[in-house]
Parts: sequence; structure tokens; C-alpha cells
Amino acid sequence: MSRTVAVIGGGITGVTTAYALAKRGMHVTLIERHRYAAMETSYANGGQLSASHAEVWNHKATVLNALKWMARRDAPLLLNPTPGWHKLSWFAAFLAAMPDYERNTIATTRMAIAARDHLFAWAQEENIDFDHRRAGILHVYRERAGFERAARVSRLLAQGGLQRRAVTPHEMRAIEPALHGDFYGGYYTDSDSTGDIHKFTSGLADACARLGVACRYDTQVTALAREHGKVRVSAGGDSTVFDAVVICAGTASRAMAATLGDHVNVYPVKGYSITVQLDDDASRAAAPKVSLLDDATKLVSSRLGEDRLRVAGTAEFNGINHDIRADRIRPLLQWVAQCFPGVHTRKVIPWAGLRPMLPDMLPKVGRGKAPGVYYNTGHGHLGWTLAAATAELVAQQVAAVAQD
Ligand SMILES: Cc1cc2nc3c(=O)[nH]c(=O)nc-3n(C[C@H](O)[C@H](O)[C@H](O)COP(=O)(O)OP(=O)(O)OC[C@H]3O[C@@H](n4cnc5c(N)ncnc54)[C@H](O)[C@@H]3O)c2cc1C
Repeated sequence: MSRTVAVIGGGITGVTTAYALAKRGMHVTLIERHRYAAMETSYANGGQLSASHAEVWNHKATVLNALKWMARRDAPLLLNPTPGWHKLSWFAAFLAAMPDYERNTIATTRMAIAARDHLFAWAQEENIDFDHRRAGILHVYRERAGFERAARVSRLLAQGGLQRRAVTPHEMRAIEPALHGDFYGGYYTDSDSTGDIHKFTSGLADACARLGVACRYDTQVTALAREHGKVRVSAGGDSTVFDAVVICAGTASRAMAATLGDHVNVYPVKGYSITVQLDDDASRAAAPKVSLLDDATKLVSSRLGEDRLRVAGTAEFNGINHDIRADRIRPLLQWVAQCFPGVHTRKVIPWAGLRPMLPDMLPKVGRGKAPGVYYNTGHGHLGWTLAAATAELVAQQVAAVAQD
């Protein structure tokens, strides 16, 4: 008999999980508090499907940069110095995970590569147009130190199975002629790609409904409780017992896990994006087609279709806070003006989202302590890149129990 499974959260992790479970014949209910799928962090991110960005942050270079940037309001990383238990315990665990930097970077690279096949196959099978562009990702470095550090990262990525090549400024111009500025060099990963996470997640949520998933939008989960090897889910005034529950609730996962006896130390790491509308021919011609990561500013860009340029980045440790700050959006606009002076920025949509980040930067995928409890959450800065692989992993585990 197939199992009843509740998936909590309709972002990229929840929708891919619901889809992978439904494909295995499970009776799936997807519960999402917003009226539609992908309205929180999976709404307007950087767009990169980037195995080349698999390096985890648990490195002394990140810590040194964070200290250096603390006094700058427009810095790529911003830390609200007000102490709090959640933040302190998260940073302690972040530092404790530094010895695992190499192993976790290699593991993340493998996951990112594995995710590609599933994501692309699902998009094709379900006919989802998500402005997918397979033109690679170019990392650019303005200084020698950054470029040399990238060479060391490349060796780890290679151990995970990813090939990326060093390119000279001359070669960079051939790969992306629209880019202006002085650069020391770059690294180009032709197997990486980009696409619109919101379009993909919405399309896959429709596919879930076609497969028979009960999609309960506008429904907030208010309580979870263990019950004789199963899980009771209270949501939207109802209370139902499921054989299993998979928590994919982004930054809300930590509080939910605590009610089920698990410690899933997700911290909300805020980031910002702008979507520049390329409404005129001149802007469309002057905007990049190849996706970029600028090491100096830690900003990424993705061309979504012909008429949108997404620029995203910055990391802010400031708790659950969705405010869009003008002083954090300004550096993104300045970057566009500097690197692509021919692009008009008259029409720009700003956005902020909270990355659900675990201290060791690896997502929590698999069983919790109690029977019937599973997680697929905490994908941090790489949820779009990794979700298809982790959804498959957790769905396999849930299905394996059904066959016991
Ligand atoms: C600025 C920025 C740029 C980024 N760029 C990239 C990139 O280029 N490439 C990449 O791979 N990743 C990127 N990311 C990361 C990626 O967007 C996230 O990792 C991913 O979207 C997280 O998906 P999720 O499903 O875990 O969370 P979410 O999308 O937030 O989904 C969680 C869902 O759970 C729901 N929920 C929570 N509590 C409840 C409840 N009680 N009841 C019902 N529903 C509930 C929420 O409403 C939400 O819809 C970026 C993130 C940011 C912020």
C-alpha cells in the first residue's frame, strides 16, 4: 500500500520533493502558507545552477573578509552585532565545521552535478519553460590573490567531478563581450547554466497537481506531533495523521524540527536581488548573456530570457527580517552601471530573500529522530542548484521505508 506523505513548504525544495515522491507512487499532500508556490526564497534569486559555486564558506578567508567588511554598510557581508543565542550558536558551529571545508566542498560539488540530470529531465518531461540558458558561468577576478585562491578551489571542484578552466582577460572578453572593467583573469565552467527558479518551481507545482498531489496553498502548518510512529500535522484548521512528513520549510524548518525533537540549526542569511527590465534594444545588446560571478563584490548575474537581467548577492546576518534596504540595493545598481554602462536601469525590481543556511553549509537531507520524520532543508546559497538531487535522495529514503 502506498504511504501518505505531507511535504511542508512550497519552495524549490518542497515542490521537487513532492514531485519525486509522487513519481514513486506516494499519496502526497503539499502544504504551503502562501497562495502560490515559490513566493519566499525561491522567488527572485541569482538564477545560477552553479556547481562552480559549490565551495562552502567555512574557510578562514571568509572570516577575515567578514571582519574587514564589518564597518562598511555596502559590504557584501553584513553582520548585525547584536548578540543572540541563535546567531552565536550558529557561528560557533560554523567555525567548528572549518576542518571539514575540503570534504564538504567536494560533497557539494557532487550533489550539484547530480542535480542537473534530474532538473533538466523534469523540465523536459513536464514542458516547463524557465528561461533556461546553457551558456556556462564565468567567475571574474580583479586581483591576482583572488585568482590564485580560485585555482585552489578548482582543484577541490575537480575532485568532485567538475571541470572549469582558467581564462585570460582576452578570453573572458570573447566569452562575454559585454563586460567592462579591468580584470586579472577568470574561471569558466561551460557545464553550468541559469534559469528562473520561480518559473521552474511554479511549473513543477502544476505538474505535481497533474500527478495527483493535493496542493494546499494558503494553509499554514501550526503544529506537528509524533503519533504511534506517524506524524500529526495541524494546518489550516484541520488535523491529519500522515505516515511520513518531509520538512522543506526554509527558514521556518528550525522551529518545526524543534517540536519533533531535532536540532536543525538553519539561520536566515539575507540576500538581495534586482531584476533589470531590458526594455529597449540598446539595453538588450549591452547586457551580458553569459552568467557571471564577480569575486570582488560577490555579486552574480543571470540573463533571464531576452528582456531581464537578474543581479544578486550580499549576505546579511540579521535574523528574520524581510526589509529591502536602499543602501544594500545601491551596490547592485552601481555594479550594473559600472560593468554594463549601456544597460538602462530605469526599470528595476528590488527583492530580498532569506537563505536557509546550516552552519556546515550542507543541507539536512533524510530522517529525523522520530519515525516518519524527514527533512530536505537548509540549502543556503545553493538551493536552486542542489534541490533536484536532494529531493531524489529524500524521496528514495521515504519510498524505501514503504517497501519494508
Ligand atoms: C539573493 C539570493 C540569491 C540566491 N542565488 C542563488 C543562485 O544563484 N543559485 C542557487 O542555487 N541558489 C541561490 N540562492 C539560494 C536559493 O534561492 C535557496 O536556497 C532556495 O530558494 C531555498 O528554497 P527552500 O525551498 O528551502 O525555501 P523557500 O523557497 O523559502 O520555501 C520554504 C517554503 O516553506 C513555506 N513555509 C514556511 N513555514 C510554513 C508553515 N508553517 N506552513 C506552511 N508553509 C510554510 C514558506 O512559505 C516557503 O514558501 C539565492 C538566495 C538568495 C536570497
